[in-house]
Amino acid sequence: MAEGFAITIVGAGVVGCALAMELAGAGEEVLVLEMNHGVSRGENQSTRNSGVIHAGLYYDQRTRPLKASLCVAGNRMLYRFCERFGVPALKTGKLVVATTGAEHAILETYARRAVENNVPAILIHGDRVREYEPRIKARAALLLPTSGIVDAAALLHKLYALASAAGARFVTETRVVGAKTRRDGIEVEVRYRDGARDRFLTGRLVNSAGLYCDEVARMVDPASPYHVDPLRGEAMKFYRTKRPELDVAVMNVYPTPTKTITDRGVYFTVGVHLTPTLDLDGRGDPILGPVVTVGPLNRQAAGKEDYGGEFRPSSEFHERVRGFFPGLEEEDLEPHQAGIQARLVGHADWVVELSPAESRCLNLLGIDSPGLTGALAIARKAREMMLGA
Ligand SMILES: Cc1cc2nc3c(=O)[nH]c(=O)nc-3n(C[C@H](O)[C@H](O)[C@H](O)COP(=O)(O)OP(=O)(O)OC[C@H]3O[C@@H](n4cnc5c(N)ncnc54)[C@H](O)[C@@H]3O)c2cc1C
Repeated sequence: MAEGFAITIVGAGVVGCALAMELAGAGEEVLVLEMNHGVSRGENQSTRNSGVIHAGLYYDQRTRPLKASLCVAGNRMLYRFCERFGVPALKTGKLVVATTGAEHAILETYARRAVENNVPAILIHGDRVREYEPRIKARAALLLPTSGIVDAAALLHKLYALASAAGARFVTETRVVGAKTRRDGIEVEVRYRDGARDRFLTGRLVNSAGLYCDEVARMVDPASPYHVDPLRGEAMKFYRTKRPELDVAVMNVYPTPTKTITDRGVYFTVGVHLTPTLDLDGRGDPILGPVVTVGPLNRQAAGKEDYGGEFRPSSEFHERVRGFFPGLEEEDLEPHQAGIQARLVGHADWVVELSPAESRCLNLLGIDSPGLTGALAIARKAREMMLGA
C-alpha cells in the first residue's frame, strides 16, 4: 500500500479545488485525485456551464436552504476573489423578464423571495426594461444588480494554482474506484490511466466528485440512498455584432422561472436565457465579447458523459426566447456547447453531510447550478465542518 495522506479530495472541479485551497491554506496535508487528463482539461460541470454569477433569487429558504444561503454568500466571495486574483468577471446585472400578466404575478412572488434571501432586486416596468436592454420586450422585469458573468475556466485554473501553491498535491488521470472504512483511516483504491491499481490510507475523504458523487458515496457506504439523474443542458450562440437587432445582452436576460413536475420529482428551471460572454481588452481587462449564448435547453442525459451527439434544432431555442427577444432569427443561432448537471433525484437542494456510515467522509452531493457561484462558500462550509469554524 502506498504512503498515506491526511485528507483526500475526490474531484478537482471548482468545489474540490476551492476546498483544497482552503484546507491546504489552513496547514492541512491535502491530496486531490482527478480522473480527467488535467484539472482544466476534460469534461466536468466546471468547464461546461453558462458562467453566470447568480444573485441568489431562485432558492426558497424552506426547500433549498443551502442554495439560498451559499449562493448569496458565494456571489460576494466570488467577486472579491476575482478582483483580488485577476480572474475575468463582470457584474453585468440581470433582468428576469415577464411577458404576460401571469408571469408578472410570479415575478412579484420572486421579489418577496429576494427580500427574504437578502438579494438586491427591483421590480421595474417594461419601459424601464428598454432603458437597460432596448431590444428586449417585456411587461415588467426583476432587476438583479448583483448578477454577473465569470470566466469559469480561468476561475478553475486560479483555484488550482492557489491550492497547489498552498501545498495541496494534485494527481490527475487517477480514478477513485473504492473506499473502505478501517479503524486507522479510510483505504482508498485508485485506478491509473494504464489500468494499474493502487491503494493508500487517508485520514479523511471528501467526496467532491460532481456527476459521480453518488457512486463515490456508495463506495464508502453501500446503503447510501443518493442517485444522480444527469441533466444535459444544450446552449446555442449568436453574434450580437452581426446585425443591429441582435445588439443585446449587456446583462443576463432570463425568462420568468418555471416549475416542472415529473415522475422523478419537482424540478425548477431558470429557463432558456441570454448570457453575454467575456473578452479581454488590450490591457487585459474584462469586457463584453461579441458572442451571446442562448440556453440551456435541458433534457435527461443518456449518461454521465453524454456530451456529444446532435443538438436540438435551433427552432426550439428560438421558440423559447423570441417572446422577449423578437429581433432574433432562427438562422442566427449555431451550436455552442452541451454540459451535464449533477441533479440529485428527489433533492432540490445540495446535500453537504458527513457520511452517516463513516464520519471521516464528507459528502458534497448534487452540486448542480448555482455551484459555480456558490463554490467558495461551499468550500468554506466544508472546511468548517472538517476543521471547526
Ligand atoms: C450546462 C450547465 C450550466 C451551468 N450554469 C451555471 C451557471 O451559470 N452558474 C452557476 O453558478 N452554476 C452553473 N452550473 C453549475 C456549476 O457548473 C456546478 O455546480 C459546479 O461546476 C460544480 O463543481 P464541482 O467541483 O462540484 O463538480 P465538477 O466540476 O463536476 O467536478 C467534479 C470532478 O470530479 C471528478 N471525478 C468524478 N469522479 C471521480 C473519481 N471517482 N475519481 C477521480 N475524480 C473523479 C470529475 O472528473 C470532475 O472533474 C452549470 C452547470 C451546467 C452543467
